[in-house]
Amino acid sequence: MSTNAELFERAKLAIPGGVNSPVRAFGSVGGTPSFLVRAHGAYVTDAEGRDLVDLVASWGPAILGHAHPEVIEAVQDAASHGLSFGASTPAEALLAEEVERRVGPVERLRLVSTGTEATMTAIRIARGATGRDLLVKFDGHYHGHSDGLLVAAGSGLATLAMPGSAGIPEAVAATTLVVPYNDRDAIEAVFAEHGDRIAAVIVEAAAANMGVVEPDGDFNGFLARTAHAHGALLISDEVLTGFRVDAAGMWGIERWSGDEAPDLLTFGKVIGGGMPLAAVGGRRDLMELLAPLGPVYQAGTLSGNPVAVAAGLTTLRLATDDVYRRLDAAADTITAALADALRAEGVAHSISRVGSLFSVAFAETAPRSFDEVRQQEAFRYPPFFHAMRDAGVSLPPSVFEAWFVTAAHGDEPLARIVEALPAAARAAAAATIA
Ligand code: PLP
Repeated sequence: MSTNAELFERAKLAIPGGVNSPVRAFGSVGGTPSFLVRAHGAYVTDAEGRDLVDLVASWGPAILGHAHPEVIEAVQDAASHGLSFGASTPAEALLAEEVERRVGPVERLRLVSTGTEATMTAIRIARGATGRDLLVKFDGHYHGHSDGLLVAAGSGLATLAMPGSAGIPEAVAATTLVVPYNDRDAIEAVFAEHGDRIAAVIVEAAAANMGVVEPDGDFNGFLARTAHAHGALLISDEVLTGFRVDAAGMWGIERWSGDEAPDLLTFGKVIGGGMPLAAVGGRRDLMELLAPLGPVYQAGTLSGNPVAVAAGLTTLRLATDDVYRRLDAAADTITAALADALRAEGVAHSISRVGSLFSVAFAETAPRSFDEVRQQEAFRYPPFFHAMRDAGVSLPPSVFEAWFVTAAHGDEPLARIVEALPAAARAAAAATIA
């Protein structure tokens, strides 16, 4: 049996940084990442045979818990009929119908393989529809790693303390206008100056890549109204929130309609049930601008992959109201114990939550923007994280990430989390700036 440390050393000789996505390298918390070999329910197992209660849930998809038997059966059944055809399959339309049934503004849906592709496509549709180039995004919001969106993006970049990314042409970055989140004056100012050149505003339906930061009041409705008043569109990025914070995502919580509804929405994570699948959907007239009906080109060899669609469709069908009640109950238990433990140690903190999605910030008041997120005592997180890990709980390896529960987080895994929190809070209290 190899240890995590041995596997990491070996991986570093074959893969840049030893990882296939930067946050997995534990850059912001230090130490050796776990190499996982299996997952079941609320637990993941590392290469050393150690079980950890998982609060990452594959960064969102595992809403039912890992390896749900019915999802695995659907995947095995689909795989036994062939892995990929590069042709249409009956189940694709069933998945699109399920999304359209749940999310009012989605009249048509196109399947892609990653959230990055979904947001890229939504922006292309918006530009094709409006004939305009500029895109407005929010400081600290993450929409995937396509060029124009890696400007002031959250989590990974914030964690690595990089202002953006090398390799992005200035001309591309210049088509993205970045404004502070929850700042209505800034939105009005950007539209006053560039209104006739803005194709769309893209927003995380609830920010969750700089920790969870809720939209203030009717902020999303305000964005739609303002964009529409200037002939621009609103793209609501529900890659992370979709089918997680509610059966119909953040849209299901807010239920904007008419002029206040988003024009395009993007989905990922839960919609694929753990397989590479994502989607872009929205108003029929906009979606029908896509090829083969319209002039906006988009395609994918593996789009609508039958194994991925089987996982996604089965996951959504199993994601009943009862599942959302269990997610909320797990989040209630953890957030209450987290607040108690930090309070007992006198650690300044705030917990922000949308549905069952939450995160802690080491700051007295809940941040409303990325600037405020950055002002917290982030140095308290690494010792907190490692104390939890030592006690058998796997947290996101960055304070800028949301915590994800699953419907499999029942009494036993919750008890382990609750028992681990006091020592982790003590470690956070004792932390000093490195
Ligand atoms: N949009 C949001 C809100 C996300 O959280 C993410 C990924 O975390 C993406 C887009 C990109 O999705 P993917 O990693 O599947 O490309």
